[in-house]
Amino acid sequence: DLHSFPTRRSSDLHIDLAALIAAGFVGILSASLTTFLAVSLASASLIGAAGSYALEHARRTAYLERKLLAELAELDGLTQLMNRHTFEVRARESWREAARARQPVSVAMLDVDHFKLYNDHYGHQAGDECLRHVARAVRSALACRPGELIARYGGEEIIALLVGRTRMEADEIAQRVVAGVASLNLAHVAPTDDSRVTISIGVATQCPPFADSFEKLVNLADGALYTAKHQGRNCAVAVEAKIGRAHV
Ligand code: GH3
Ligand code: MG
Ligand code: MG
Repeated sequence: DLHSFPTRRSSDLHIDLAALIAAGFVGILSASLTTFLAVSLASASLIGAAGSYALEHARRTAYLERKLLAELAELDGLTQLMNRHTFEVRARESWREAARARQPVSVAMLDVDHFKLYNDHYGHQAGDECLRHVARAVRSALACRPGELIARYGGEEIIALLVGRTRMEADEIAQRVVAGVASLNLAHVAPTDDSRVTISIGVATQCPPFADSFEKLVNLADGALYTAKHQGRNCAVAVEAKIGRAHV
């Protein structure tokens, strides 16, 4: 145990040295023996200090490495957004907290439009690069508040969890995100009007008291995304989940 290991402070060394010099001065020890002992004492103390420093440095480095690994394990390697597994865990926590605090929760499902075409035309590497740009734009347009989440859900799908927003606010945010991605002006061969990379979003909001499970809200958002695709893509569709009975 590092903490219980007895350590000597530099003030201890000063006292020892002072005692030695005093002993040499009054003649208890010869001058050469005093010098020898003083040099030995100072060297031993220096070696000890260097050893403690190295130990402390190694301990701190190991701690930082563990912390960094834990943080990396929560991220998606391509987009640097949170990964799906971490999202599933955190979203359920947020869902329970929101239920207790009687706050509305929204789930937004985002999907890149005609992304298969993008890959087929520009290649998979360019597709990856495009996903990175889209993820960055989505993150900045969403401007998540503390407790809100954004994660890569699947291939070219992103999911977000918003807390404390009305259905109208969630809708406005989704429109802003759709516009944010379109304004990147990334060229696409998609059969859209202006051939830019665009996304579609489905948003579902559950107001308290909660009627159903979190999974049901995700399914509802997925259904809204399907509607957005059928409405022509590059748009957001917002729906509201039914409200449960007061005792739920
Ligand atoms: P829609 O507008 O209906 O969403 O059409 P889509 O072509 O985007 O839909 P579809 O689900 O058919 O295609 C999704 C494509 O996304 C399939 C795959 O080529 C691509 N994709 C999924 N994950 C990745 C990835 O990590 N990198 C790249 N480059 N492409 C990916
Ligand atoms: Mg998809
Ligand atoms: Mg798609």
